Amino acid sequence: MRIATIQRDHCRPDKCNFLCYRVCPMVRTGKETIVIDEELNKPIINEGLCSGCGICVKKCPFEAITIVNLPEEIGDPVHQYGVNGFRVYNLPTLRDGVVGLVGANGIGKTTVMRILSGELKPNLGEDAEWEKIVERFRGKEIQSYLEKLARGEIKAVYKPQYIDSIPKRVKGTVLKILKKGDETGNLDRIIEKLNLENSVHKNIRELSGGELQKVAIAACITKDADIYLLDEPSSYLDVKERLNVARTIRDITDRYVFVVEHDLIVLDYLSDYIHVIYGKPGVYGVISNIKSVRVGINEYLDGFLKSENMRFREEIKFEVRPPREKKEINEILSYPNLERKYDKFELSVNSGKIYAPEILGILGPNATGKTTFVRILAGDVKADNVDLDIELNISYKPQYIKPRKILVKSLKLKPELIEKFGLRHLMEKRVNELSGGELQKVAIVDCLSKDVNIYLLDEPSAHLDVEERLKLAKHMKKFAMEKEVAILVVEHDVLLIDYLSDELMVFDGISGVNGKASKPLDLRSGMNEFLKKMGITFRRDPETGRPRANKAGSVKDREQRGKGEYYYVG
Ligand code: ADP
Ligand code: ADP
Ligand code: SF4
Ligand code: SF4
Repeated sequence: MRIATIQRDHCRPDKCNFLCYRVCPMVRTGKETIVIDEELNKPIINEGLCSGCGICVKKCPFEAITIVNLPEEIGDPVHQYGVNGFRVYNLPTLRDGVVGLVGANGIGKTTVMRILSGELKPNLGEDAEWEKIVERFRGKEIQSYLEKLARGEIKAVYKPQYIDSIPKRVKGTVLKILKKGDETGNLDRIIEKLNLENSVHKNIRELSGGELQKVAIAACITKDADIYLLDEPSSYLDVKERLNVARTIRDITDRYVFVVEHDLIVLDYLSDYIHVIYGKPGVYGVISNIKSVRVGINEYLDGFLKSENMRFREEIKFEVRPPREKKEINEILSYPNLERKYDKFELSVNSGKIYAPEILGILGPNATGKTTFVRILAGDVKADNVDLDIELNISYKPQYIKPRKILVKSLKLKPELIEKFGLRHLMEKRVNELSGGELQKVAIVDCLSKDVNIYLLDEPSAHLDVEERLKLAKHMKKFAMEKEVAILVVEHDVLLIDYLSDELMVFDGISGVNGKASKPLDLRSGMNEFLKKMGITFRRDPETGRPRANKAGSVKDREQRGKGEYYYVG
């Protein structure tokens, strides 16, 4: 079955004068394979008449057209956004417990959530009444849910992915806002569980990203609803907060809970079941069968869905690596103990060495001085106790990136990195017009395009989907090896840190009050120290080697605690 999509926001007939129409060999032989919609002033491809030659795909100057062949058994879509629009196939299954969804950005996750919430009535490709929709899913677990949805008997609450705009829509102190919305009488308990006590008396405008995320989650789960839909609950939170949020969401009982999450450790810890959504971003998305969380995430990393017999990507491997021989690498920087005081904050860093090639992961709670340390090395901030004279050149990507008004192509990005990170189509755009994920990738490439010895990346995973995170990790490892440089990475995504890091620095302390940093440790010791402070144990999945958080109090958890093995390497 052939489908043709045109991404309308990319399509610019005013610039190309309908080049696709002019080059299509079928049109030339008089067929109406491509017609021009006079009203929209856009081309329309008739899928039934298209030969799939791919000429228009190659010629379109804005990469707007995609032609794909899908297996017949996939059937009709559940929803399609108009002619040649994006389509999503299949619906998830809802069960008791938490059902997670994992997949790339632009592949239909929000569309699925909008359908489940009742906001978007699926059209089965064209137009459909509820009767037909329910009929389509007869005998499936989702049938009775759809029947209730059709009768308007489902109350859904939704925590959106982008929370930054919340303070523009609601005003006042956090406690007042939350109290007004509380329908469960559980608010005090939730505030305590999410450690929001110090935030609730603030005005919502004064909150940090992490505080705002927790408030949005609290507002969602204190509603009395049939289904709770949470889109990326971990953004802006540190590791401890992520797991804490996961535990709080897991406490919801007798209701449906559906979560989209890109941090695989959090998703794993949070969910009982998983659906994978695969396909091509902006073109189509297919929801897999329901899988147990372990199998689902393993198959996702494997790139192969067993019960569907479907390969959608190459495998991603997690190797358990022994610490490297120091002989293989060069010391490029040795720094002394570092101290830095602000009015309300105090940082002390143990002396250490940085090698090349290496990736040094940096883990720790929010506001314990990670950025300050990085900025001391970069020469942006002076240490109080020593005059650090670093002769090495450092390139730095900050945590918050300024969306400047300049064109992407005016940045001096290295062509090979533009290709690797797939940024070619962004070159003509202005930096301030990019989406969060696009801006992040441009900032990373901008940082790596400088010829220096040390690269510092603060939270490169923010706004990236799980596919992009794993790709980023692969590129960074290769980059460090090939250029023989050191890359320092501050991150809260533990899977990414585990996958990336040769060595690890661990920060500890009271957020906003003080911070203490270890010297760089080998991955195993570093993780062990970090997890001990978090009070959580990790094991490795025997099939993929990926780290998994143990449920508190489980047999494995107690066994590992007993041995002091917080990070079981196997
Ligand atoms: P995700 O949540 O996985 O990022 P979405 O469900 O938001 O993906 O979007 C999937 C695709 O559908 C995107 O390519 C987007 O451009 C397209 N899309 C989303 N909403 C609409 C709409 N209202 N009209 C047309 N296309 C849309
Ligand atoms: P992290 O990167 O671990 O989140 P930061 O290094 O950004 O932590 O900040 C640590 C603490 O230092 C925060 O409480 C922050 O408010 C404080 N701080 C950072 N820079 C300054 C500054 N220039 N003046 C005063 N306080 C600062
Ligand atoms: Fe031009 Fe491409 Fe749009 Fe066709 S799809 S009109 S080639 S921009
Ligand atoms: Fe025409 Fe070939 Fe494009 Fe189909 S793929 S619309 S036949 S140019």
